Amino acid sequence: MSRKKIAIDPGHGGEDRANRGPTGYVEADGVLDIALRLKPLLLDAFDVYLTRESDVTVALNDRPAKANNWGADLLVSIHTNAASPEAQGVEIWHSKNGEWGTVFQAEAKRVALIVQEELVRATGLKDRGVKTRLVDRRDSPIYGLDYYAVIRRAKCPALIIEAGFHTNPVEEAKLKTADFRQKVAEAIAAGLKKAYQVKGDDESNLTPIKGEAQATREQARAWLQQKAPDWVFLVDLYWDIAPAYGLRPEVALCQACKETGLFRFGGLVQPWQNNFCGLAATGQASDGNTPLYGADPNRVRFEKNVHGAIFIDRPTGVEAHLQHLFAYATDEPLPAGKVLLSPRFKLVKRGSAPFVEYLGAAENPAGVGWAYPGVDYGQSIVRDYLTLLLRTSPPLSPPVAPPPDPSRGETIRELESRVSLLQQELTQVKDELAKYRQAVGAIQEIVKEF
Ligand SMILES: [Zn+2]
Repeated sequence: MSRKKIAIDPGHGGEDRANRGPTGYVEADGVLDIALRLKPLLLDAFDVYLTRESDVTVALNDRPAKANNWGADLLVSIHTNAASPEAQGVEIWHSKNGEWGTVFQAEAKRVALIVQEELVRATGLKDRGVKTRLVDRRDSPIYGLDYYAVIRRAKCPALIIEAGFHTNPVEEAKLKTADFRQKVAEAIAAGLKKAYQVKGDDESNLTPIKGEAQATREQARAWLQQKAPDWVFLVDLYWDIAPAYGLRPEVALCQACKETGLFRFGGLVQPWQNNFCGLAATGQASDGNTPLYGADPNRVRFEKNVHGAIFIDRPTGVEAHLQHLFAYATDEPLPAGKVLLSPRFKLVKRGSAPFVEYLGAAENPAGVGWAYPGVDYGQSIVRDYLTLLLRTSPPLSPPVAPPPDPSRGETIRELESRVSLLQQELTQVKDELAKYRQAVGAIQEIVKEF
């Protein structure tokens, strides 16, 4: 199946910067930012084109024309809404009767409904529904056609997404945060992927987290020895504990390498915490009251002014890491008899990342993941660590003497005697050669005298 071509149109921009909120939000800038965040989220699944990538003027009719020239399968124009300060919520306008007739109506509505559902869920804003608007002036040459030019002139299903009201002070405050704009972008991406039932990359190229070890302990030790020799002991912990969770130990070890910078701990979490995967390290130090969400308080704790969780010993830290990875890899309950050690297990969208590549939200078809936004997070674990570990040869075992072969003794003695004969012959040849050289030397002397 060929990839769908999605054109994204960030509304306004350039000379058209008048739409703004009461405290300075500019629609042209806000929607451009959302579009620029959206693009990389779509690239694994779609071909993507933006009608503008900076603050430049694009004429209204040029927007659908650009999408048409590019051959878009869907045009998504991104806006924020304006009305009275009380008006609130998200809505999507979609094709009904464009210049090419009603052919795009059903598809546009189908996609709009799916994207709207994701948007409402992600933003928590009021659901104003999906809508159409037609020109109702009978004296207009375009009477009865889609009111919005971007939709009317598109040669494909088209949507105008209104991601909240910048004229509403509460929604303007949200629109001014990068966090919210990221949420909007992720929701649109998740909706579009759901609508076209694309999983992003072909799953056969992805790296499963569950499964048996594909690297031996010897291999892992040999690799880690080159990278972080003080931490080679972790290999046995990961290889001992992972099988009970059905996880690949090398995947978890490589994630720990990524999270700790090969155990140099350049970030906020420190080695004494036994927190090898940065669990609950949010960038804000704990106030000492960070909730454990059911994790065993005898083995896990938070301390005031310390970033991330603290585990009582190394095996506990490794097991908590594996549990957290388990939460992403599967929606199964913890294996029987296991005590909860990850203080963030219950916050995970269970089973949302069965593949390493999906651990970064940016590459996860559901837009969630271990790392936010996590661009290249999972790919980096595979490319920069796992591939290299799997390519490492274990150290060679000491050479083993071959068993004695009785029939070979005779052969060796024969060969030895032949070699000694040849050596004798060689000595004779050398002697003769020396004599000839002497003779030649004498002749040359005589020739010189003449
Ligand atoms: Zn607008």
